[in-house]
Amino acid sequence: MIVMKFGGTSVGSGARIAGVAEITAQTMAKTGAPPVIVVSAMSGVTDKLIKAATLASQGDRRAFAQIRDELQAKHEEAIGECVPNAEYARSLKAEISSLLTWFETLCLSIATLGELTARGMDVVSGMGERLSARVVAAALVSHGIKAQMIEATELIVTDNTFGSAVPQFEATTAKCAQRITPLVESGVVPVVTGFIGATEDGIPTTLGRGGSDYSATILGRCLPATEVWIWTDVNGVMTADPRIVPDARTLSHISYAEIAELAFFGAKVLHPKTIQPVVQMGIPIRVLNSFEPQNEGTLVSAVSLEIPIIKGITAIRNLSMVTVTGSGMLGVPGVAGRVFGAVARSGASALMITQSSSEQNICFVVKTSEANAVVKSVEKEFELEMAHHDVDTVKNQDQVAIIAVVGAGATGNPDIAGQVFTALAASSINIISIAQGSTDYNYNLSIVVSQSSADDAVRAIHSRFQLDQI
Ligand code: ASP
Ligand code: MG
Repeated sequence: MIVMKFGGTSVGSGARIAGVAEITAQTMAKTGAPPVIVVSAMSGVTDKLIKAATLASQGDRRAFAQIRDELQAKHEEAIGECVPNAEYARSLKAEISSLLTWFETLCLSIATLGELTARGMDVVSGMGERLSARVVAAALVSHGIKAQMIEATELIVTDNTFGSAVPQFEATTAKCAQRITPLVESGVVPVVTGFIGATEDGIPTTLGRGGSDYSATILGRCLPATEVWIWTDVNGVMTADPRIVPDARTLSHISYAEIAELAFFGAKVLHPKTIQPVVQMGIPIRVLNSFEPQNEGTLVSAVSLEIPIIKGITAIRNLSMVTVTGSGMLGVPGVAGRVFGAVARSGASALMITQSSSEQNICFVVKTSEANAVVKSVEKEFELEMAHHDVDTVKNQDQVAIIAVVGAGATGNPDIAGQVFTALAASSINIISIAQGSTDYNYNLSIVVSQSSADDAVRAIHSRFQLDQI
């Protein structure tokens, strides 16, 4: 069984939704069985729902009414393009309209109460998938495919962490066996709402922004699927951001560990949390382009291939490097523990850490938006030491970026760091700090450079490893 998820742009219009029906038909012809489909909201819809609820909580009673009209028009237009039967289209429009009336009722209550709870937000923000899934199911039926819309509140059981609910796999597995398996066995394509779930008591939840990928891997694990296909609007996972490196290439294969590293470092790929349900089961994921379905895309699996050894280069921007310096830190145990305790208390997380072996300084990188609070918190922690000049300064340098070079396990490849440094030197890019993490499965070399040289750094390393030629 294959689970296929279609993202917001892949269901972004009636024409796109008709394309989903075509892809589904071709998949069925190829695999001989109905896939399970998971859909996102049409692109832009979730943002509008969240905006409507937020404005309502501030007493705005006009915005949500206007957004209702926009959403109604958007979905009706889509229906006009992918559901040709007039009678069917009319009843579907009525269903969309009654869901949107419910949305308006919810927003009105939020406005009346002047309060928006996380629980209330989940009910509102999850409506986009409930709208789109109905249209997609109708488009499949119009294309001659047996299909049925299913609300994920009936399938995906979560805890009650509203806004980023945690799936309960055992309970979800039982529901999938009850609701999905019989449908698929009778030749029907289930069209499931992404992003949403419900607690054991049936209270609606959401899995976090971008959560439809997560819905797909949760279902993939619980069914279980042989593969999970993520249909998006790019040809798979790329070696670098094509806006920065025009000759970036699509990788035909990448490992779970490598993609998790790339995602952490800001590449717009699958979020590590998202792939976790299938990683444990070794179920492969394919990232495919619904705008170019004939393209092979990228296969993501447990296997780590050594060619190319470097899989991707990304940059995270808007960072600050904080340096704690002092001659009295030498050989004193517990300094690092106290530094990072203070960082944690300020609510920030350190993206990268380095300490010179002389122990006279510890450097770490945080988001610039958090840097001032971090510096204050560390200064407070070392108030006494600073008075005694054991710790001299806690300074931050803004406008830096981390360049992450990610690849397969670098065991037996001593040359990688050397090539990276050579590439940067040849482009006259100054290295501010370096950290390297390497296991048998994956490799990450992180380099701090000034933000203004970040793009050049990515391009220089990309070209040094000839990633434009894979
Ligand atoms: N519609 C949700 C969002 O925009 C989930 C998704 O698209 O994956 O965050
Ligand atoms: Mg999306």
